[in-house]
Amino acid sequence: MSKKHLVSRRTTLKGIGAAGASAVLGASTGYSQTGDSNPTEPPVPGSDMRRKIFEKVTATPLIDTHEHLIEENERLSGKSPRIHCDDWSFVLSHYLNSDMTAATMPADSYKQFFSDEVEPAKKWKLLEPYWPAIRHTGYGQAVTIAIRQLYGVDDLSAATVEKVQDQYQQVRKPGFYKRILQDMANIESCQVNCLYKPFEQSAMPTLLMQDLSILGMLQGPDFDQYAPPTGIKVKTLSDWHRVIDWWFEKYADYAVAVKSQNAYGRDIDYEQVRPEKAEPVFRKRLDRHSLTPPEQKALEDHLFWYAVKKATENNLPVKLHTGYYAGINYMPLGRLAKNPDSATDLCRMAPDTRFVFMHICYPYYEEMIAVAKAYANAYIDMCWSWIINPVAAKDFLKKYLVTAPANKILTFGGDYIPVEPVLGHAVIARRGIALALAELVEEQHLSLDDALKLTDAIMHENARRIFNLDEKMKNLRQAPWA
Ligand SMILES: [Zn+2]
Repeated sequence: MSKKHLVSRRTTLKGIGAAGASAVLGASTGYSQTGDSNPTEPPVPGSDMRRKIFEKVTATPLIDTHEHLIEENERLSGKSPRIHCDDWSFVLSHYLNSDMTAATMPADSYKQFFSDEVEPAKKWKLLEPYWPAIRHTGYGQAVTIAIRQLYGVDDLSAATVEKVQDQYQQVRKPGFYKRILQDMANIESCQVNCLYKPFEQSAMPTLLMQDLSILGMLQGPDFDQYAPPTGIKVKTLSDWHRVIDWWFEKYADYAVAVKSQNAYGRDIDYEQVRPEKAEPVFRKRLDRHSLTPPEQKALEDHLFWYAVKKATENNLPVKLHTGYYAGINYMPLGRLAKNPDSATDLCRMAPDTRFVFMHICYPYYEEMIAVAKAYANAYIDMCWSWIINPVAAKDFLKKYLVTAPANKILTFGGDYIPVEPVLGHAVIARRGIALALAELVEEQHLSLDDALKLTDAIMHENARRIFNLDEKMKNLRQAPWA
C-alpha cells in the first residue's frame, strides 16, 4: 500500500469517528467515503456538547488491556496452528464465527468457510444466507467497520468479496500491527494474554505488553507446558510451587498482570486449601489418575491462592475472566450468575490483592458495579463487552460512573486473535464511551467539564496506573528479548 494511500486511510478513520458519532447522534454530517470528513466539523446540530465529547474521545488514546493477538511474524508466516485459513475469512474467525453457528449455519458450511482448501472468493456464497442475520451484532459491526476502514469496502457481498480478499493481502504486510493498532485505532499499547504459552516474549514488547498466564499453574495443572523450561523435576507439590516461583522470578518484572480464564470450567469460588490437603490430590494427578470433581476443586483452589499470593508479592494485579463464554452451545448461565458473589468473597479473602474482573461479567453487569463500589480492591475491565452487547456496555459505563469510583474502571480490550477487527471494536468502544458521557451530561449527572476530564482517566490513565505501565515500559525496553 502506498504512503499516500495510507495517509488517506488514516484520514478516513478520523472521518468515520465523526460519522460514527453523527450516526449515533442522529446528525447528518454525511459520512464521506473519500476520506475528506473531519471529526471536528461540521458540528452536530443542536448539540455542541455532544460534538465536544466526541472530539475528545476520538482524540484520546486508548490503552487496550486485553488481547489474544498472535505475534505479527506468525501472522505473516501464514502457516501456524493458530491460522486455519490465511484469507479474508480469518478476519471473521474470532468472534463472528460464533454468531454464524448461532444463526444456524450448518457445520459443513462452517468448516468449508474456514478451510484453506476453499477458494477465498467462493466463501461468500457460504456466508451469504446468514450475513443479514449477524451483520448488526457487535461481532458483525466490528468486522464491518474493519473491512470498511482497512479495505475501503462498505459491505460484504458477491460484488465486493474479491476486493476484500485482495485488500486482505495488501494490508497484511510487515508493520501492519503498528499501523492498525496505533496509527488507525489510536491505541497506545495492548496487553496480550497469549493462549498457547504462559508468557510471550514479544518481538514488539512495548506495543504488545503481556500478561503472565497462571491458568496452567492451577488448571490441570499443565505439567508439560510449565515445568520443562524451569529444569525442575516435579515429584511433589512443593516442587510445583518452585515451578510457579520460577515463572514469577523470570517474568514478573515484564508482565503487566497475571491472568486466569479458569472460570470457563467452574465458578471463581476459590477456598483456602492447606498444602497437606492438596498434596495427596496433587500426587494422584501427577500419576495421571483422574480426579473427582471435589478433588480437582481442592487442588485448583490451593494452587490459585499460591499463584495469587505470588502475584500480590510482585505487585501484579490478578485478571480473572468472569461472565460470558466465547464459543457456542456449552455455556451454563447459572454458573456465571454466581461469579459476582464469588468475586466479593475473593476481595474479602485477599484485601491486599487487586482483582481485575473482566468482561463486566456479562450479562450480570449490574452486580459488578456493586462489587466495585463495595470493595476497594475490585477493578472492572470492560474488555470484550462492547462487541458482546454494545448497548449493554454503554449502559454499564453510564451506571458505573454514577455509582462506583472512576479510578477503577478500564474501558477497552479488543480480546481478539486477529488484529484487524480490533480496529472495529475500538470504534464501537469510542462511540459508546462518548455516548455514555454525553447522556450523563444531558441527564445532569455530569458537567461537560467533568465528562471531558473523565475521558482521560477511563481511556488510558487508569490502565497506566493500575498496571504500573511506566515502570513496565522501562523494564521491557531492557528485556533480554527486546
Ligand atoms: Zn480473552
